[in-house]
Amino acid sequence: MYCDDSRGTDIDHFQPLAVAPLRAFAWDNHVLACSFCNSNAKRDAYPVGADGVCLLVDPTAEDPARHLFLMLRSGEYGHHTAKGEQTIRVFGLNRPDLVQGRQNAFCLACSNLRDWYRQQQNGNPAAHQVAQALRDSPFIDVVHAMTRLTPQLTNSVVDEETVPALEHWRSVYGS
Ligand SMILES: [Zn+2]
Repeated sequence: MYCDDSRGTDIDHFQPLAVAPLRAFAWDNHVLACSFCNSNAKRDAYPVGADGVCLLVDPTAEDPARHLFLMLRSGEYGHHTAKGEQTIRVFGLNRPDLVQGRQNAFCLACSNLRDWYRQQQNGNPAAHQVAQALRDSPFIDVVHAMTRLTPQLTNSVVDEETVPALEHWRSVYGS
């Protein structure tokens, strides 16, 4: 739920037990996370603003894109809001292994998109399987960020060869 990297193996109490012991068994306070995010990154962190509202993006209730943006070429997250800034800090979203993983995922996604596009154009039914694999990739936030690129940004972020493939992908899978 937090890093989009490893499979979830732990149940994290989004509102930590140290902060809200009475929420220990609240269903909507249980979030699937990898053990690194749960035990090394977040732990008991739960920053709140002066108004008492939590300063972490709740992945069960909010669209992270309102608070965070992914810089596809560098693999790093930037923030739109204070909540986004705290979320990056607390979850370590720019830790080196995640940044490298996103760079790799971006490189592979571009290559797979071109492959998917070529197969689509040729009417090859295998295109469907490539699309499925792309949509199930680790670091799926990379594919989401690519799908959400504005047409103006697409040309500066994605290489020339990939642009038509991404535009077609967006017309099929973009919302
Ligand atoms: Zn994680």
